[in-house]
Amino acid sequence: MLFNVAQLLVGPVGATRHYELNQKGTDLDPELDAIQPVTGTVDLLRTAAGVLAHVVLHTRVRLPCARCLQDSIVDVDTEFDEEFLPLVNPRTGELTQIAPDSDAFFIDEQNLLDVGEAARQYIFLALPMQPLCRPDCAGLCIQCGQDLNEGPCQCLPEPVDDRWMALAQLLTDQ
Ligand SMILES: [Zn+2]
Ligand SMILES: [Zn+2]
Repeated sequence: MLFNVAQLLVGPVGATRHYELNQKGTDLDPELDAIQPVTGTVDLLRTAAGVLAHVVLHTRVRLPCARCLQDSIVDVDTEFDEEFLPLVNPRTGELTQIAPDSDAFFIDEQNLLDVGEAARQYIFLALPMQPLCRPDCAGLCIQCGQDLNEGPCQCLPEPVDDRWMALAQLLTDQ
């Protein structure tokens, strides 16, 4: 997701560029099991300090269901604004002073702005913590591990507390 912003950097504040994205998920991160390309738009705006990127992303990923571990397919939509600062001043060629603790994004010495790392971070933030293969997934039996979506297992129900058994007995005796 590299964009050459040399022209934008020497242009006036407020100048814009618009791009369409279409990228394989594994290009962003080998761990990202995207079953369709990452698509979206990138809008770049020249600011006083650098370039503000407004990025809209969509993809569809495969994650293990939190209950049964089968594949669940999750739509991922995210958008973000991040400012990218040039490592080299485009007019003077001087190196930019960067605070050691800075977590800003940068435009490299070749005037390339890479949206990839920011996109990777925002996509992972947008993934659900508890993906489900379907809303009513029955999950796995905690005793034998059978996938209860495929039917009940042979395990006995949890033993009932003796005091409740005594109470139940009283009630049925009446
Ligand atoms: Zn499931
Ligand atoms: Zn079981």
